[in-house]
Amino acid sequence: MSAVKQKLREELVMYGKLMPERNLVVGKSGNLSVRVPGENTILITPSMIEYQVLKPEDIPLVNLKGEVLEGKLAPSTEKVMHLAVYNARKDVGAVIHAHPVYGTILGVVGKPLPMLIDEMAIRLGGQVEVAEYKMAGSQDLAESALKGLGNRSAVFLANHGSLCCGKDLKEAFHVTEFLERMSQVYVTSLLIGKPKPLPEESIKFELEVYKYLHKAE
Ligand SMILES: [Zn+2]
Repeated sequence: MSAVKQKLREELVMYGKLMPERNLVVGKSGNLSVRVPGENTILITPSMIEYQVLKPEDIPLVNLKGEVLEGKLAPSTEKVMHLAVYNARKDVGAVIHAHPVYGTILGVVGKPLPMLIDEMAIRLGGQVEVAEYKMAGSQDLAESALKGLGNRSAVFLANHGSLCCGKDLKEAFHVTEFLERMSQVYVTSLLIGKPKPLPEESIKFELEVYKYLHKAE
């Protein structure tokens, strides 16, 4: 096993364990993946295993067509959704699918998340859309998620959860947590008043920053 892949597998295990700890999933749900630099492959969490017992050697290596190249365990059933993002977005180095409470609420009611505070456009790349409902694990969900994601860093999956991406696992995990925090702000704001969106000129400037930070090399 190469040193690079070993390090990425260790990182996947570390961020995987944080998923239930940070309330982003319950039990075995959700999944994380990372692109292996310089190869047309990804490492992705396996299906049906508790994060707390997950070990680096349990993480399968899959090519961009979805064929398993290394590992005894089956990759996550959502691998098609992860692969759709890697195949379409060269700027993406890591993808995380979670079931966080407030993000799932917005996906259940079908409400996109507008830009509400300054950091949002820079981190998320614009209003977070709700991808049309499709069955979990299906090619249809992969296509719907990719369409909803566009060139941004996050999308809600209708009646399901969230899908976030970043240049590496650290960034994808931060986007996942940040999206959930902003979803909580939005849902709670709706309960006590009418949330005011950020001024247009601030959003425009911040989107330029996002574009600069997310240029595919
Ligand atoms: Zn899910």
